[in-house]
Amino acid sequence: MSSKEIFLYERKQNKNDDFTIWMAFPGVYSFSMSSLGYLWMFKTLDMLEGVNIERICSDTEKTAFSIKDVNLFGFSFSFDMDFLTIFSMLEKYNIPLKSKDRTKEPLIFAGGPVVTANPEPYKEFFDFFIIGDGEDVNLTAVDICRKYPDKEEALQALSEVEGIYVPKYSNKVKKLTKKLSECIYTPILSEDAFFKNTFILEMSRGCANRCGFCIASYLNLPLRFVSYDDLIKTIDFGLSYTDKIALLGAQISAHPHFHDICAYIYNKIKSGQKIEMSVSSLRVDAITPDVVKTLAATGQKNVTLAIEAGSERLRKVINKNLSEEQIFNAVKIAKENGLKGFKFYGMLGLPTETQEDLNAMIELGKKVKKENKGFDISFGVSSFVPKPNTPFQWVGRENTKILEDKANFLKKELHKIGISSNISSIKWDYWQAVLSRGDETLNDFVLEVYKMGGKLGAFKSAAKKLNIDTDFFAIKNYSFDQKLPWDFIEITPGKDFLIKEYNRLLENFT
Ligand code: SF4
Repeated sequence: MSSKEIFLYERKQNKNDDFTIWMAFPGVYSFSMSSLGYLWMFKTLDMLEGVNIERICSDTEKTAFSIKDVNLFGFSFSFDMDFLTIFSMLEKYNIPLKSKDRTKEPLIFAGGPVVTANPEPYKEFFDFFIIGDGEDVNLTAVDICRKYPDKEEALQALSEVEGIYVPKYSNKVKKLTKKLSECIYTPILSEDAFFKNTFILEMSRGCANRCGFCIASYLNLPLRFVSYDDLIKTIDFGLSYTDKIALLGAQISAHPHFHDICAYIYNKIKSGQKIEMSVSSLRVDAITPDVVKTLAATGQKNVTLAIEAGSERLRKVINKNLSEEQIFNAVKIAKENGLKGFKFYGMLGLPTETQEDLNAMIELGKKVKKENKGFDISFGVSSFVPKPNTPFQWVGRENTKILEDKANFLKKELHKIGISSNISSIKWDYWQAVLSRGDETLNDFVLEVYKMGGKLGAFKSAAKKLNIDTDFFAIKNYSFDQKLPWDFIEITPGKDFLIKEYNRLLENFT
């Protein structure tokens, strides 16, 4: 914890309660302080009467409470590779990694997008998981753990709660979807945060666009918006503490009042208030002169537009209906209204991709560059990873060699036309795909990877040692009647809907 923290809520002062929680973030302090979900969860538990709570990060040196006094130890699990840091944090406090080997230790749980999508590769390490939006169910979980000091009794009671998955007792679990009846915001500001002193607020959850690969959309359906009044109230509240705000959401520009919010902020700047604002990537139809002017006035230099694929054909296949004309128009507006650059975000290896689609991405870059001399154009590219609960969950990745050739081609060709690109590691993306569609047989695998040091080579060596066919998880196409490891999670809309979507998107191309 840093002395430079400002709490935006009133904390309980009594720290001598008889129930103690550690809320852990599998990363360093500065990142934890820019993680909205983690901080909000901490705040809701911190407000509880009769509970001590402490934040723990991977670089925490001293703790206020001893592990002996901790009753509940929760982890935020947002990225596939977080398991490596989680294991090292458990070991740091001498906690056996597998739950069957723990007796006197606290109950250990995890929540977050990775385990909501598919907890199976990690089920032997956690006593329970929060599946879905955990803001409210966390409180129920704490109540139950306080009521039943006996671990088994607590776990049995937890397994009866909607949104809680107890591997030992649950056969199925329903994913929780919360109404966004309040605006979630950074409850603690810190100078040492990765986004220093930035007040982040969530405008929407989910995305109505439903690109076939996108877990942020499908796992968070239906798309929900925070009300305009709530947003304005929250923005004013944040601005009374700091001049840095960030608007968060997978598709914030789809908010029915996105333009009004920008106008509200723009007017404040015009009347002399200093505000630095940042936004996550925008939809093309949000790139209007007014919005861009607001962004430029708040100090934003460039904007990211996720085009995903280079050709209109492939964009249609993945449900990203974005025409070339719209893209050119967006760049023009950005340039004419004060931004300095534009970043395109794309993906390699999307289902049905051919060389023509890659060529189209280069051509697009070339044309944009030619028409916008002096404007900074760059590309960020990752490779397709099939994700649970999306229409493309049945589609395997291409093999690593093919994808690496494609990545090299793209990098070289973009470089030739003076466009910088940042392409994710194809090998890491492969292991991400293995974990993403993994089943319970991967529990020993992830443990072995950790023991072998967690680097790229460790994944390969662990798979070899345990004789695991990792291509089965990453590369193989699955059939609709195949049982999937995450089928036991009840989620709306269900599998039938995903099959319909798969057929609608891919029927003309496979
Ligand atoms: S527009 Fe972006 S957030 Fe929305 S579904 Fe597509 S990739 Fe996901």
